[in-house]
Parts: sequence; structure tokens; C-alpha cells
Amino acid sequence: MRTKQLFALLLAAVCLCAVLAACGNRNTPTTPVADSLNVTTIGEAMEIAEEDTVQFSTYENAFVYVFGKDGTYWRLTADLTDEQSEALWALDVFDEEYDAKQKELVAPLAVTKCENLNEMKLTDEELNALVGKTGEDLLNDGWTSGMGYNLDDMAFFMEKAPFAYTVTFEAKEKLENTDDFDEQEAIRPLKVVSVKFDGLGNSATDIQTDDAEPVEDDMEGSGIDYLVLVNKEHLLPDGWEDTVELVDAQNTIPEGVELNKDNEYLATDVFRVEKNALEAFRALQADLEAEGIVMLLDSTYRSVARQEELWSEFEQKHGLEYTQNTVAVPGTSEHHTGLAIDVCIVKDGKIINDNNEMIAERDIFAKIHAKLADYGFILRFPEDGKEITGFDYEPWHFRYVGVDAAREIAAQGVTLEEYLGAVTEAAS
Ligand SMILES: [Zn+2]
Repeated sequence: MRTKQLFALLLAAVCLCAVLAACGNRNTPTTPVADSLNVTTIGEAMEIAEEDTVQFSTYENAFVYVFGKDGTYWRLTADLTDEQSEALWALDVFDEEYDAKQKELVAPLAVTKCENLNEMKLTDEELNALVGKTGEDLLNDGWTSGMGYNLDDMAFFMEKAPFAYTVTFEAKEKLENTDDFDEQEAIRPLKVVSVKFDGLGNSATDIQTDDAEPVEDDMEGSGIDYLVLVNKEHLLPDGWEDTVELVDAQNTIPEGVELNKDNEYLATDVFRVEKNALEAFRALQADLEAEGIVMLLDSTYRSVARQEELWSEFEQKHGLEYTQNTVAVPGTSEHHTGLAIDVCIVKDGKIINDNNEMIAERDIFAKIHAKLADYGFILRFPEDGKEITGFDYEPWHFRYVGVDAAREIAAQGVTLEEYLGAVTEAAS
């Protein structure tokens, strides 16, 4: 096994020159592109990448690094051995040195595949030719929607992989964000007014690997129980991490917001979230943004292995008692499900991601909480809920349960435990 992989790496190194040469030869002449990309390792690409364009994903057998440079977008793939893959997955995003540790692991990796993504970028002529077509035409032509919208100017954020575009539609009557608003259904009959190139889309790092799961388009097809209960008494069900369909997501940091060492992870981390939960979250985000509230992903899916690391780190830094009160025991964190999302907010151009500072932002969080149910989320750890949930108030922790259940839970004003009739004495 080991030998085979080493052989594959050697073979890849031998073939590298040919691969890179091919990368430079397939340019489309309509957009300015680099003639070739003279990098042999991920580290070399990291040196030249334009920072705000970087996306990456770790697969079981590959590391994918996507970036832009002088108007050209590149996707590099590097093979991973089991050991390298495990080392990358074991990294803790909460670790202050996460970036440095990740770089140390991926920088030496040899590039085994290089793609010039501009070949897949639609030219201005092609974009102009879309004016007058319908949303239906776009969806039939492989465009995807569900990344958010702004109903005020009828702009929908759509993707034609691997790039994202803002598609503005003509509305006969203004659309309303009703409870059962369905973005795809809404745009089907509408005519395209303009299409603007935005940059890399969410699926830019999607590649086919030997271990890649088949993609299911069906909303209901995820095969997981959206009402799963994971808490101190209810461990993550066996096999969950194999079944749940996680997708990668990154934050778009608003212009003018300065990041520092403590919060730059918000711009660089790739967050993993269950597919339908992410789609709902993007819609919630867009809805809030229209009201001037900027909410970002702060922490999402965490593997049981990462939770174990987090636990021991907190224990070392803050002691056992503090850790027991703030960190879920590995296997008991709702973040293992991929359905839990911790957010942070941007206020007056400043990131607010400190727990106490967020608790102090009562007005902003009240507005956010009021919208949760309509997008299928519940506030998982409400005020005064500790006796039942075992956790102090966490205004930032949302759990996706689907719209019907979320509305029912909100209407009843209960916790998930109460709703599921699974109240036992919470461990302290
Ligand atoms: Zn959380």
C-alpha cells in the first residue's frame, strides 16, 4: 500500500513537467491569462497566490488548492498518502497555529494536476448572450442557485462551476421572501437582465477523487435524520460521519473589514457544513444582509478526532472545570453532525467573535434569532436552558432541523430535548 503510493508520487513527479506544460497550452485567448504556471509544489503556489482568491479542500487522497493570479484562476491537485491525509484532518481549526501547521503539511506537496480554470470562465460575449433568457434556461444549462439573493434589486447569486456570477432578473412584481420561498422556483419564469462575473464559486475545489461520494441533487436524499439528538447523554449515532453529506464553504469578508491574527481564520478557513443546512444558512445570511446585518461562519462541522484535540487543548490552557463547562465531550458535540453552525457578526466594520461580546449584542442577535425558524434553524442553547441542554446561553450556535420542525420548536418555545421528549437530568 505504502509502496504503491510512493511509486505513484514518483511517477507523478516524473510527469509533472508535461502536465504543467499542458496547463499553459489550453488557454482561451479571450481573457488575459498567464502563459503557464511554473510551480511544482503547493508551497510555490502559496507564494504567488492572490490572498483573497484562495480556496482549498482536503480529500481523503488529495489536497486541492485553488487561487487567482493576475486574472487567471488555477486549480492544483496534490496526492495525499493516508498519513498526510490523517495529519491534515487532525489539525484543529481552533488552534492559533492552524495556518502555520497546515502550511507546513501542504507546502512540500508535489503538484500532480494543474488546471487553468479560465477555460471554464464564460466570456463577456457568452454572458451578454444570456440576457433575455429565463431562469429556467439557466438551470437547465447547468447553472446552480441557492447561494443567496437580494430581492430588492432581484439579484441572485448563481454558479456555473467553478465560477460564481450575480444574475439580475427582471421582476414583473417584486418577489417577497415568504416562509416557503423557493429560490429556484422563483427564478424559473423570470428573464435575465444582466450577468456579472463574481469570482470563484463554492464548488471551485470540487474534484473527483477515488473516494468522492456520488453527488445527490435531491434535497430529501441526504439519508440523515435532521432531528438527530446529540448531547451529553446521546452520542453521535454510529456511521453518521460516513453518511452525512458535507460541503465546503468559505466566508466573504465585507470590504473594509480588517482582520488580525486572531480572526484571519474567518477568511482563510474552509468550513464544512451539511449540504442542506448550508443552503439554508446562505439564504438566511442574504436575508439578514438585506437588513444590514453581516453574519459569518465561525465554526461548523468538527470531527470527533478534532473535538478530542480541542478538549485537551482547553484542559491544558484553562483547566478541567472550565473545559467541562465550555467544551463538549468528544462524541457529544452537536458540531459532529454537520448541522450545527456557530456564527460571528460584523458591526461597524469590526468582527465580533468573542463570546461575551456577542452575548452583549442583544439587538443584533434578537433580529437574527427572529429569522432562524423560517430557514430551518433553531437557537440550540437558549437563555435559561442550561438545566435541560447542559449548556449556558449561546446566541451564536444554530442547529438546522428543517423548516417544519424549527417553526414548531420556536412556536412551542422549547429546547430540542423537550421537543423530542428526551429530557433527562443534564450532566453538570
Ligand atoms: Zn457551537
